[in-house]
Amino acid sequence: MFKKIITISLTLGLLLGITISQVSVVQNPVIEVQAKDKIKLNVTSKTLYKGKSLTLKVSGTNKKVTWSSDKTSVATVTSKGKVTAKKVGIAYIYAKVSGKTLKCKITVKNQKIVVIDAGHQAKGNNAKEPIGPGAKEKKAKVTTGTTGKWTKKKESEINLAVAKKLQTELVKRGYKVIMVRTKQNVNISNKQRADIANKAKADVFIRLHCDGSSNPKISGAHTIAPTSKNKYVSKNVKTSSQKLAKSIINSFCKNTKAKNRSVSYRDDMSGINWCKVPVTIIEMGFMSNKQEDKKLATSAYQTKCAIGIANGIDNYFKK
Ligand SMILES: [Zn+2]
Repeated sequence: MFKKIITISLTLGLLLGITISQVSVVQNPVIEVQAKDKIKLNVTSKTLYKGKSLTLKVSGTNKKVTWSSDKTSVATVTSKGKVTAKKVGIAYIYAKVSGKTLKCKITVKNQKIVVIDAGHQAKGNNAKEPIGPGAKEKKAKVTTGTTGKWTKKKESEINLAVAKKLQTELVKRGYKVIMVRTKQNVNISNKQRADIANKAKADVFIRLHCDGSSNPKISGAHTIAPTSKNKYVSKNVKTSSQKLAKSIINSFCKNTKAKNRSVSYRDDMSGINWCKVPVTIIEMGFMSNKQEDKKLATSAYQTKCAIGIANGIDNYFKK
């Protein structure tokens, strides 16, 4: 039996014109490559926000993995494969195992912060506050807002409903979201709302409102930004807020099909004048107009509003 195998092997070897030793040299690396191909990283490319972590795993082997990063200032990795994003940039994480080196590209980005202010609250506060830093002119801290002429809904409720939908949408898109309020029963002045955005170092501050008019025929949406002559906000806040206001009104109207009333430039809004960050107010529609009042009260239309605004925020950061 043993003799027979040797004879066959020799015969085969002779037939193929190669020796048995050559056969083994050719065969061994093939087997090894096949096994090595099964050794894989669970992730080979990933974008991480600064401060966030991700754990990499090697499958197809139970041998010890040695982890390293080519740029520890951008991303570090522990002996167990836990990657932490340190600063904006690109780093490669290497996993050495069984003589093989696997790599994962880590792109570190800054997560953008959006502060959302659902305009007004259940009950206004008529105590006064200056309309901006150093201003003599004073306005009510926060008003109650308008009411739907047909639905009888409070503007503050509609604003809050859209704010919550916008929060969900933005979190889904990777933004960090801070809400000025998540309920009706609060007492936060317009200056305090701006302070929340300033303290959060918001990349954008979005203030949600609805309009009211004595003329029921008026409909459509518009955004508000400071004028180029605004004396309360910095030059950078003026230009970025104007850019933000344009981006949001265009995306909003595109998604909701609301009439585009463009950007209004005003310097009498406390919640804008106290800002140290890019800010805009979106007036989503007229609650004094039958069609818009009814639309704004529906969850489906509120979702359209939120997605339109989110698109506008995305576009603002793209430009
Ligand atoms: Zn309002």
